[in-house]
Amino acid sequence: MIIVMEPQANETQIQNVAKKLESLGFKIVFNRGEVMTVLAAIGDKRLIEPASLASMEGVREVKLIQEPYKLVGRESKMEDSVIDLGHGVKIGGNQPPVIMAGPCSVEKGIDGLLQVAYGAKEAGAQVLRGGAFKPRTSPYDFQGLEEEGLKYLAEAREKTGLLIATEVMDTPEIGLVAEYADILQIGARNMQNYKLLKALGKVNKPIILKRGPAASIREFLLAAEYIIYAGNPNVILCERGVKGLDSHYTRNIFDIAAIPVIKKYSHLPVIADPSHATGRRFLIEPMSKAAIAAGAHGLMIEVHHDPDNASSDGAQSLTIDQFKALMSQLKLLCKQ
Ligand code: PEP
Ligand code: MN
Repeated sequence: MIIVMEPQANETQIQNVAKKLESLGFKIVFNRGEVMTVLAAIGDKRLIEPASLASMEGVREVKLIQEPYKLVGRESKMEDSVIDLGHGVKIGGNQPPVIMAGPCSVEKGIDGLLQVAYGAKEAGAQVLRGGAFKPRTSPYDFQGLEEEGLKYLAEAREKTGLLIATEVMDTPEIGLVAEYADILQIGARNMQNYKLLKALGKVNKPIILKRGPAASIREFLLAAEYIIYAGNPNVILCERGVKGLDSHYTRNIFDIAAIPVIKKYSHLPVIADPSHATGRRFLIEPMSKAAIAAGAHGLMIEVHHDPDNASSDGAQSLTIDQFKALMSQLKLLCKQ
């Protein structure tokens, strides 16, 4: 930790800061410049709340040089985490990208879902993803089929051998969703629902944690830290875009740089969701390629049997044929 003192800070103020830190076991190195003094405090940052230093007389700024997360960071685990998703599919490290595809919402009548599932399987996807509990911006929009939707997903798994990923929106539903799903998704809106994150720590299934629309990468990693700290190390991070200035052309800003940044600081697998990141069908192919080129360990792509009549997110959903064409392109890219 670095404590930058004000230029006008007097010796008593400098010593007060040093004494406070020393009393907590920090070793202090003074750097006395022409204009101001900087203190380097070496020790365990968890012993002090940085704000309690920042408010001391004569202190200009407190800078942390250690990242605030522990378990998600490379400091605690150098090598990439590889998560076993079941059915022989692994994600992370040098594993080939895992492709998750499916409709935004699981809709009434299983036939459409089965068409997507068979198409996705044929194209080479490993996971069928569809929402049974839907977090919708408006309470008047389709809210999901709930358990009936979970049953459809389980039937699609039975028929195709695909793994099933679906969203859990609230703590009381974790048990029900985990009964059906192979992988639980936490939606962007719930990234900072800390009670839910803590409860997911007790679940014995991999978790896809989506980045909040207004979350920094550090906040995103700290949200993952909650789940791991509570006991579940199997967290997959999903970059799905953040709020931008221009929702006319793209729904969100796809933060591609977040992928290599996360891989630099964390050992966890990171996937990308170009569907929610862009909101536009024509952008899915270029952004999927960009995400793979940037090092994503997988993709989550919305695919619908009839996007024009989808209950949610039709504009960003690929048709089954478009998804197959995309997969052919991605296979070429992955070979290079
Ligand atoms: C979804 O995956 O369908 C979804 C609602 O995404 P997000 O939580 O990223 O908005
Ligand atoms: Mn969606």
